[in-house]
Amino acid sequence: MSHPTPANPQAPAAKPAAPEAVKPSNFLRQIIENDLEKGTYASRRWASSPGDAAHHAKGEPDPAKIRTRFPPEPNGYLHIGHAKSICINFGLARDYGGVCHLRFDDTNPEKEDTEYVNSIIDAVKWLGFDWNGAPDAAPYQASDYFDFMYRAAEYLIEAGFAYVDEQTAEQIRINRGDFGKPGVDSPFRARTPEDNLALFREMRDGQHEDGSMVLRAKIDMASPNINLRDPAIYRIRRATHHNTGDKWCIYPMYTFAHPIEDALEQITHSLCTLEFEDQRPFYDWLMERLIEGGLLAAPAPKQYEFARLNLTYVITSKRKLAQLVYDHKVNGWDDPRMPTIVGLRRRGYTPESLQSFAERIGVTKSDSWIDYSTLEGCLREDLETRAHRGMAVLNPVKLVLTNWDEVMGAGHLEPCTQPALPHAAEGVEVPTRHFTIGKEVWIDREDFEEVPPKGYKRLFPGNKVRLKGGYVIECTGCTKDADGTITEVLATVVPDTKSGTPGSETVKVKAAITWVGVANGVNAEVRMYDRLFLDAQPDAGGKDFIESLNPNSLKVVTAIVEPSLANATAGQQFQFERHGYFVADRVDHVQGVKAVFNLAVGLKDSWGK
Ligand code: ATP
Ligand code: MG
Repeated sequence: MSHPTPANPQAPAAKPAAPEAVKPSNFLRQIIENDLEKGTYASRRWASSPGDAAHHAKGEPDPAKIRTRFPPEPNGYLHIGHAKSICINFGLARDYGGVCHLRFDDTNPEKEDTEYVNSIIDAVKWLGFDWNGAPDAAPYQASDYFDFMYRAAEYLIEAGFAYVDEQTAEQIRINRGDFGKPGVDSPFRARTPEDNLALFREMRDGQHEDGSMVLRAKIDMASPNINLRDPAIYRIRRATHHNTGDKWCIYPMYTFAHPIEDALEQITHSLCTLEFEDQRPFYDWLMERLIEGGLLAAPAPKQYEFARLNLTYVITSKRKLAQLVYDHKVNGWDDPRMPTIVGLRRRGYTPESLQSFAERIGVTKSDSWIDYSTLEGCLREDLETRAHRGMAVLNPVKLVLTNWDEVMGAGHLEPCTQPALPHAAEGVEVPTRHFTIGKEVWIDREDFEEVPPKGYKRLFPGNKVRLKGGYVIECTGCTKDADGTITEVLATVVPDTKSGTPGSETVKVKAAITWVGVANGVNAEVRMYDRLFLDAQPDAGGKDFIESLNPNSLKVVTAIVEPSLANATAGQQFQFERHGYFVADRVDHVQGVKAVFNLAVGLKDSWGK
């Protein structure tokens, strides 16, 4: 298992923290390498905590070569799209001797849920990353910067770069113009800084109604970039904030808050998804103003945009995922069908498989759809070498060895063994599985055909197969009930053919089938998951994704598994031979007491077939 080396700002690696393999380059890596070569950020100081220019001036030269950040809004559980962003931000910091910050973007005074905060912390940790330069450091919180943001707003007002606008939201919208039409100046645009400052303080002091006025940056009402047509930077909103309580009744807008958060934290490369591209000019404008005003330390952080992850058959929007949970379309955020990190984990995904998925899809500047099979392939590849093997019969029918008592002894149970990992790398100690064979074993119904179709090699009257890890048997027929349903398959055991004993290969067979002994098989609940949506792009173009929910995304079967599987620890992955990869459910499986498995991924790519 490869876990990223935690970046430590006290003792940063002199060179990139040796990624095991040379990673393919991408435009972000090129930008960072170029900055490192030119020393763009070499002069930065870091005072061991976020702060303004004066604060950092007292610090040491920043030991972190770069600083990136992952800034989730704590309003839901993280999903596979966030995993991409986490792997990019933390991965780049790790590879270039930097530090990545985990920052809760909680400037919006919506009710914050500690459930979400904790789940985000757990998800980042589980993916294998440490933040803010030390294991178990406290994440940063954007709301801790409200005082500075307020000060920055007053500075802009005093310097003539911001004004209080009393137009209605509707008037502001109309007067902003559009792509073909320049905006119209607000009648309040020419107020003096003194008047603006007085009004802004009244806003802060609660003397005006919610929505009655906003603070706007004063930039250019004719700019071809609509985001530069005097964007709103502060609004009045009477809401209790989870961190600052009722201290504020004005809150900064995201576009104003975010660059400031980056700058206070001395972020060098602020990586976000493409929809923020049009915000970049304002980001740069704001940074220039606050640096020239001496509030923030130079050089400014820079924003770069990459394509968000779109994955077929999957929804990546916290709001829409919340709808699935609250409307009971799934069984909670960690339902194994959910693309949340907790859901993927419960489905059997490993941190390594998600990291390698992020590597494989790479970083690009244009939106595209990634095929779901790419994600599955990464899991299969990871589990192939480390998931223990085991036999499970998912659709059981009893097979009776009619000559057993006679040739093996009445009631005899013959012990059998198989390696848990047949293809383990050299030097890896492989545990041995133990189970027994007797007169009766369970086999899968699909492994017997009374009248075999052409090319069928498994059980049919007159044919010999091997019970994997056991004996060669010869099928003699079956018994049926009144409806014609097969109740038992009948066969005889061929003596002296036990796997691994001398001469066992002298009887040639064309197939080996999996089985579980009736004497030591254990009942298990197996949850056979299928894709949650039938439509490859369930919410594209504003479609109602609820309509394409797959009514058969979960089928529960009672299987019979060999003893080593029943004894699994919760969360342990296995390959059920011939069936696929399964995981002992983290929640419902109880070792040795109650066996519950989830299908993680089939053995072969059957997606879209
Ligand atoms: P959602 O719409 O699901 O709420 P969001 O972008 O609003 O997503 P945030 O909590 O603000 O969620 O996101 C934190 C970070 O994760 C942001 O930097 C964002 O760009 C990134 N991110 C979110 N979704 C994706 C995605 N599908 N692919 C890549 N990065 C993503
Ligand atoms: Mg959001």
